[in-house]
Amino acid sequence: MKLSVIIPCYNEENNIDLFYQDTVRAFGNLIEDTELIFVNDGSSDRTMEKLRNLYKTSPYRIKILNFSRNFGKEAGIIAGLEAAKGDYISIVDADMQQRPKYIVEMLNILETQPDYDCVAAYPDKRAEGKVISAIKNSFYKLMNAMCDVEIRQSTSDFRTFKRRMADAIISLPESCRFSKGIFSWVGFETCYIPYEVEERAFGTTKWSFLGLFRYALDGIAAFSTKPLIIASILGTLICIIAFISAVVVIIKTMLFGDPVAGYPTLICVLLFGTGIQLLCMGILGQYLSKTYIETKHRPLYVMKEVLSKEEEQKDEMGE
Ligand code: UDP
Ligand code: MG
Repeated sequence: MKLSVIIPCYNEENNIDLFYQDTVRAFGNLIEDTELIFVNDGSSDRTMEKLRNLYKTSPYRIKILNFSRNFGKEAGIIAGLEAAKGDYISIVDADMQQRPKYIVEMLNILETQPDYDCVAAYPDKRAEGKVISAIKNSFYKLMNAMCDVEIRQSTSDFRTFKRRMADAIISLPESCRFSKGIFSWVGFETCYIPYEVEERAFGTTKWSFLGLFRYALDGIAAFSTKPLIIASILGTLICIIAFISAVVVIIKTMLFGDPVAGYPTLICVLLFGTGIQLLCMGILGQYLSKTYIETKHRPLYVMKEVLSKEEEQKDEMGE
């Protein structure tokens, strides 16, 4: 099989059919050689019903992975990768913001320019508020200053890559999965193409402001230990300052008999010191909690059922 398309779906009941029709239209003959892997990430609406229906009626190769609850898009992606059999693998959102026609374009690039292992699409101009986009910009700046791997601004998970890159991604065992970082970490030649972001066809985005913020912190903790170094440097700096000011106070008292000027300075220093301590402990805590989660070795998702015609055929043949 040539192409596997992974589509993580969480509460996308109205988008499934639209997405499928658009894909069939955009792919043309390619659809015969493609498997569509829909991952139902514990949707609470009728997404699974729609998917079941599609599975029954579609003449093309469709796999449905049904999670036992919501595990997040990252888990959906990895489950899709593990199930994918294609030589090329695509990841695309179900909400019609990322049109399937770009997948055909990506595949063309990969086939005509063998130097590339991956084609990633970045939004041409994102239809989002100035505040959010300013925050995102500063996030990428921070991220790239902190991390050893370079994370390109505004690339999404919307990409198509070769089998060998998929295998590399699957081989990373970590459970705190930050796919933007993982894609950079595994390396390979990547070609970047712009794509026009459409409006979401139905439903709403699953990202809240707080969610994005947490995602950013997770990303930094997953791909960099620089915050720990910064915490140590900060601690050392403050020790030096404290030492110098102690020396100054002692000399002043000895020379001028001047009692230490009071309460406000004390409060400021105390608050500053405690603040820094708490900050550093928080940073430490972030890494500790990540280590804790990793040591549990929990699976990234729990699968409730898999609908796949290949599996059905195998069962029938008594394998
Ligand atoms: N998604 C998912 N699990 C989640 C959240 C999102 O599988 O917990 C899917 C969602 O159905 C969609 C894609 O991930 O296909 C992108 O989600 P969304 O549109 O909310 O993100 P945005 O496009 O706003 O970045
Ligand atoms: Mg979306």
